[in-house]
Amino acid sequence: MSTEKSKQSAADKDRGKVKAIAEAMIALPPAVDPPIAGSRTRIWKQDPSVKELALPRDVYIHAQVKEGPSDSQIVIRGLSPVTPDLNQDFLIDPASDEKAFDAVHTYTIVRQVLTMYQRVLDRKIPWQWNTGTNQDPLSVHPQAGRTANAFYSRDEKALKFFFFKPDSLPAGSPDVFTCRSLDVVAHETGHAILDALKPNWFFRNVPAQTGGLHESFGDITSILTILSQLDLVEYIVAQTKSDLHRRNILAVLAEEFGNAFGMPEGLRNADNNLKLSEVSDEVHDISQVFTGAFYDILADIFTANRNPRLRDDAIVLYETGRYMAGLIIRSIEKAPANNAIYADVAKAAIAIAKADGHPDYATLIEKHFTLREVLGAQAFAGHPDLAHLGIYPSRHGCCGTMQHPEYQT
Ligand SMILES: [Zn+2]
Repeated sequence: MSTEKSKQSAADKDRGKVKAIAEAMIALPPAVDPPIAGSRTRIWKQDPSVKELALPRDVYIHAQVKEGPSDSQIVIRGLSPVTPDLNQDFLIDPASDEKAFDAVHTYTIVRQVLTMYQRVLDRKIPWQWNTGTNQDPLSVHPQAGRTANAFYSRDEKALKFFFFKPDSLPAGSPDVFTCRSLDVVAHETGHAILDALKPNWFFRNVPAQTGGLHESFGDITSILTILSQLDLVEYIVAQTKSDLHRRNILAVLAEEFGNAFGMPEGLRNADNNLKLSEVSDEVHDISQVFTGAFYDILADIFTANRNPRLRDDAIVLYETGRYMAGLIIRSIEKAPANNAIYADVAKAAIAIAKADGHPDYATLIEKHFTLREVLGAQAFAGHPDLAHLGIYPSRHGCCGTMQHPEYQT
C-alpha cells in the first residue's frame, strides 16, 4: 500500500511539474521563436457559386504579409486595413467579416499569381512603373464600387474590382463581387503582369491579335493559377477522370460572373476549336483562338506525360501547369515589343521547347497553332487592316481593362 501511495504522490508531483511548466508557457509573451517565416491567409477556392468548392481554404504565403494585407509589391486599398493575428496570420471567417475576408482573399490571389510567374522566371517582375527609384506597389481595390466591371489601370497603378446586382437575378438576390472570383482576380493580375513585360501591347492602334494576346494572357493566367493550387489540381483530375476535354473548372472561366449574365459556361470556354478564319477582329473573339490553342497544348502535354502506374496524375498535371507557365511567359518575353501577332509567340514557344530539350512539345505546339490557322501554309492572312482609316479592332466583348479609356489612344 505504502509503495502504491508513494507512486501516487510521485505521479501527483509530476503532474504538478507539468502544470507549472504549462502555466509558465501560457505566461510567456506571445513572441514566437524561431521567428515566423510567413503568413497563413484564407481564400475562396474558385468562387462562392461553385458549390463543391465553396468552403474557404487556408493557404501559406512563404513571405511575411503585413497589415493591409500588403507586401513590397501589392497593397490592398479602399477597405479598413486588416491586421494579422499574433502568428502573423490572416484567418478571417467570411461569415463574420465579409470585407476583411475580401481584402485577404483578393490580396492572396494577386500574390499567388505574381509568385507563380516570378518562380518560373526565377526573378522579380517589377510593375510597369517601377523604373529608376520608383518602387510603388500595385494598389488592389477589392470593393471599388457598384458596377459590373473589373480592370487594371496603369495610370492608377491599380487593380479595381467592383460589385453589382445582375438584372438577370431575382430581386433580393445578393450582390456579385468580382473580387471573390479566383478567375477574375487572376485574369486582371495577368493584364498587370503583361503590361510590365510588354508596355506597348495595350493600346488601340495595335493589331487585333496584339490585343488578343492581352485578353488571352488574362484567361491563360486564370488557368495556370488554378493549376498552381494542389488541391484544385487533384479536384480537376477527379472531376475529369484525367480527360481535360471534359467540362471542368479549368476550361470554364469566371463561373459566377458568367452566371450573373445568363452564361452558364462562364464568360468564356478555353476548350474551344475556333480557328482564326472563324472569328472576327473583335479582341475578345480573337483571343479565344490563342487561349484554345494553349489549352489543347496543355492537355496534350499532360496526356503524353501521364503514367498512372508510376505517378499520380495530379502530380503530372501540376508539373504540366508549371512548365506551361514558364513556356508562355518566356515566349511573350521573346516576342516583339510592338505589334506582336500570334505567330510570333507560337514560334518563340517552339524554339523554347526545343531549347528545353522537349522536341516532342515543340511538335505539339506547331500542330495546334497550325490547326488554328496561326502557322503553316493555311495560316489565315487576317481581315483587312483599317487602322489607316481610324477604324480599330473592337474590344466590346473584353473585360474592363481592354475597354478602359486610358488604353484608347
Ligand atoms: Zn481582360
